[in-house]
Amino acid sequence: MYRTHNCGELNISHVGQQVTLCGWVQRGRDLGGLTFVDLRDRYGITQLLFNMETDDSLCQSARKLGREFVVQATGIVSERSSKNPKMATGDIEISVSKLEILNPSAVPPFTIEDDTDGGDDLRMKYRYLDLRRAPVMNSIMLRHRMAQVVRSYMDSNGFIEIETPVLIKSTPEGARDFVVPSRMNPGEFYALPQSPQTFKQLLMVSGFDKYFQIVKCFRDEDLRADRQPEFTQIDCEMSFVQREDILNMFEGLARHLFKAVLSIDIPTLDRISYADAMKYYGNDKPDLRFDMKLCELNDTVKGKGFKVFDDAELIVAINVTGQSEYTRKQLDELTEWVKRPQIGMSGLIYAKHNTDGTIKSSVDKFFNADELARWSTACDSKPGDLILVLAGNESRTRKAMSELRLEMGERLGLRDKNVFKCAWVLDFPLLEKDEESGRWHAMHHPFTSALPDDVHLLDTDPGKVRANAYDMVINGVEVGGGSIRIHNKDIQKKMFSLLGFSDEEAQKQFGFLMNAFEFGAPPHGGIAFGFDRLCSLFGGSESIRDYIAFPKNNAGRDVMIDSPSSISDEQLKELAIKVVN
Ligand code: ASP
Repeated sequence: MYRTHNCGELNISHVGQQVTLCGWVQRGRDLGGLTFVDLRDRYGITQLLFNMETDDSLCQSARKLGREFVVQATGIVSERSSKNPKMATGDIEISVSKLEILNPSAVPPFTIEDDTDGGDDLRMKYRYLDLRRAPVMNSIMLRHRMAQVVRSYMDSNGFIEIETPVLIKSTPEGARDFVVPSRMNPGEFYALPQSPQTFKQLLMVSGFDKYFQIVKCFRDEDLRADRQPEFTQIDCEMSFVQREDILNMFEGLARHLFKAVLSIDIPTLDRISYADAMKYYGNDKPDLRFDMKLCELNDTVKGKGFKVFDDAELIVAINVTGQSEYTRKQLDELTEWVKRPQIGMSGLIYAKHNTDGTIKSSVDKFFNADELARWSTACDSKPGDLILVLAGNESRTRKAMSELRLEMGERLGLRDKNVFKCAWVLDFPLLEKDEESGRWHAMHHPFTSALPDDVHLLDTDPGKVRANAYDMVINGVEVGGGSIRIHNKDIQKKMFSLLGFSDEEAQKQFGFLMNAFEFGAPPHGGIAFGFDRLCSLFGGSESIRDYIAFPKNNAGRDVMIDSPSSISDEQLKELAIKVVN
């Protein structure tokens, strides 16, 4: 037997027992006659004690242990004279009588401790060592816990876990496909699934009724901190359901996860329409941990001779509660912030609603006290508040104000990562127009149905049609989204033609699905959650990478295994591929 216990479980109740532990040497300390070694494994750290007086040669060997050596130590659990209340095993140590080096280690390229000196690149190159660090290992274990909780919720609600293929053909989730050449079919390619969308719909046609899968999806997009070329979804589909059924089922999943993983009871999810989300938060994934709603001032401020307002498509404000004392310096700095290229505004206008009731704006030349009082009414400001105003092109200004709102929320500490505000965003537009090509695009995907009330607009005013779709948003992060699907062949066909597919193209790409709809497709709908994101949200981190055992970097590379990489001429030939440079 290699070990009797792990490195995280011994405590005062084990004092006097002989135990054997295995693990990695985290570090050693040499205090003259005594040598201490911290032994680490997945479960924790236990202090080993070597006493020169009891066994000099053993103590000598302990001194020679390098960081990350793998050792086996046998000894008696003893009470520590100076205890460490911060450690689970902090009351005890092992007085070692036998030490075996199971495998030595080269000097690790960075220190393997909670706070490491290793930079990003180095840690990714040696990810297997990075994973030894408790914070990283804990993130991966949190992910495991969440996956188990999801499985048990889904299973207990009658969902069947079914694997769908990875070598498929293009699924239209709006990103570029990763493709895989087929050796047996020269010149032809598989695509990796952007999601199992069409397969899960086909499973409904088969009659499985409730499906789920925790599944890898692949999208060849430009990467950001919260995106990976391969990522994991909790993918779900149900038959004979309406939107309300799906919202209830998956609100239940969210509740259950919060309770089981974080011991948090979350209230019923707020529901907000896409139109209201855009109007009040400038964003279709609003962070509802704080209020600070956007208010439009077009009718209040135009026509007073201030050109910036008069020329603007949109003038929009937020009222920042209790910040009228913001200094000139802070406001100048905020102005620079909105002028950064990422935000792209040409300036910031403000009005301080002073505690004495007077209002002082940065554009007093154009607005007298009465007019400023109208600003205050429109924004519902109170003495002590600060009104921030942006003006310009409609969509850019709305987006900028949404960013400014988040920034102010951040600066004022209103975005506590331990507070969770979950909501459904509903009634998205079904279609959006690509300004360049003038073509309609499905906002969610082409299998999404229209809200029953809006179906009649499909022919006359497609831009007005709302989708029978929903997103779950937590703290300003879109964690999941889905829709009630089209299950009628003719409507699906019509949708493809609205999206600019010829009948022939639609048939070629999605004929299998439309044909299936001819054989008794039940009404169905579903949802998919971004599992990596959900994990990072639960773990309180911005980056999904921490929750993926072997993530890729910003350039889509795995620097540990050095992938992607070139392949031999032989392989290329076999695949009938010519590389053009
Ligand atoms: N397949 C969709 C997606 O990946 C989710 C869904 O509609 O169920 O976003």
